[in-house]
Amino acid sequence: SRKVQPSAAELISGILAHDKVALSRAITLVESTSVTHLAKANEIINGCLPYANKSVRIGITGVPGVGKSTFIEAFGKYLTSLGKKVAVLTIDPSSTISHGSILGDKTRMEELVKDENAYIRPSASGETLGGVARKTRETIILCEAAGFDTIIIETVGVGQSETAVHSMVDFFLLLKISGAGDELQGIKRGIMEMADAIVINKADGDNINKAKLAKTEFNRALHLFPAKKSGWIPTVATCSSITKDGIDSVWETISNYFELVKANHYFEEKRKEQNQYWMMETINEQLKNNFYNHPEIAKLITSSQQAVLANELSPFAAAQKLLEFYFKK
Ligand code: GDP
Repeated sequence: SRKVQPSAAELISGILAHDKVALSRAITLVESTSVTHLAKANEIINGCLPYANKSVRIGITGVPGVGKSTFIEAFGKYLTSLGKKVAVLTIDPSSTISHGSILGDKTRMEELVKDENAYIRPSASGETLGGVARKTRETIILCEAAGFDTIIIETVGVGQSETAVHSMVDFFLLLKISGAGDELQGIKRGIMEMADAIVINKADGDNINKAKLAKTEFNRALHLFPAKKSGWIPTVATCSSITKDGIDSVWETISNYFELVKANHYFEEKRKEQNQYWMMETINEQLKNNFYNHPEIAKLITSSQQAVLANELSPFAAAQKLLEFYFKK
């Protein structure tokens, strides 16, 4: 016999009653690519929207191995000990190709998973980073409506995912470890520029002094960046996710940030800007998907590419022809 699926209204009331099962089912609908699910997902998001937004959204990035999941576990447990409700969402662009090979095959955040006041949802898979990021943004709304007041968005420090995460969080934390002295090597300028805090993890045992040196070096480097619109001066700190040293100060820093940006109204400004950005991003994404998934366009692209390669058609003329065909159809 077929199981009856809960209606959108049932899922909405489940979410508003802080039911994690209803939340997970709704997120699955949001992540689905089926057209019938899309309508239902939109209904649920609209129903949840009035109850969303009352949270702090924190982005955490760092290269694989830096200790993100260990840090988020320690940090998340600290937050729930303060009475906070923590949702952890992950953006992992590699999951679109390898189905989460970086993150999927190890047990992550074992303690936090068991915490009643925490909710952990692994990365949505999708064809594009934009698509995955949009789904994550909608998932944030659902988590907030389900009563989670602290949303952590984790991203693997590769590719463009940091930019996508930066555009959906209030605070952006870059996790690092001390290296062989040349701390700034290999770090992308853009990522440092986005950071509201740099936290040097694994500052324990023999690593403590190296971590302190790294802190000085990062502090010096941060001074070279222009002032932030938020009025916030980025901070550098050290911590250990194993001994938990410094975990509380990370939260103190983040709290100071929110005090500042709520007082100077940058908090609302940024969220408004982000909403506008995501509206345009969604349009761009859907136009692109519609265009490339159109069966005749797909065929025409192949033949046009051949014509371009054979120098029978300029790249611009070929593109123009395809776009005209698409918009006249
Ligand atoms: P991720 O790939 O960034 O999520 O990194 P993980 O959280 O999986 O950590 C990678 C490795 O570093 C694991 O073996 C952790 O136990 C270790 N690790 C993480 N945080 C710390 C820390 O603060 N101190 C020490 N000594 N090891 C850590």
